[in-house]
Amino acid sequence: MNQSRRDAVKLMLGGLAAVPVMNLVGMAAAYADLPHVDPATDPMAQTLKYHHDGAESDRATAGKPGLPADEQHCANCQFILADSGEWRPCSLFPGKAVNENGWCTSWTLKAG
Ligand code: SF4
Repeated sequence: MNQSRRDAVKLMLGGLAAVPVMNLVGMAAAYADLPHVDPATDPMAQTLKYHHDGAESDRATAGKPGLPADEQHCANCQFILADSGEWRPCSLFPGKAVNENGWCTSWTLKAG
């Protein structure tokens, strides 16, 4: 392999390695700007009884299996779409963010 071909391969491999890092940075920046779910006006939030603070929700009476009620929150729910951040996207609220300490009646323990 000649030098210019080796240089081209190195550039391509370096570019491929940078893509996942760029995606993580882009994802974090993207969901940081999402509007927060508003329980007072969002029909889905009202249907699912979403609250920004799980301690003020109906989780104790909901009887959801997987964890004690006081340990259930958006951060450990199957439907949360990011691993960190106070406000994160949820697959049940497209285009909006929920609080990591929130809770709704669809809470399901995250697998793994
Ligand atoms: S589905 Fe899960 S992550 Fe989404 S609002 Fe409800 S409890 Fe939070």
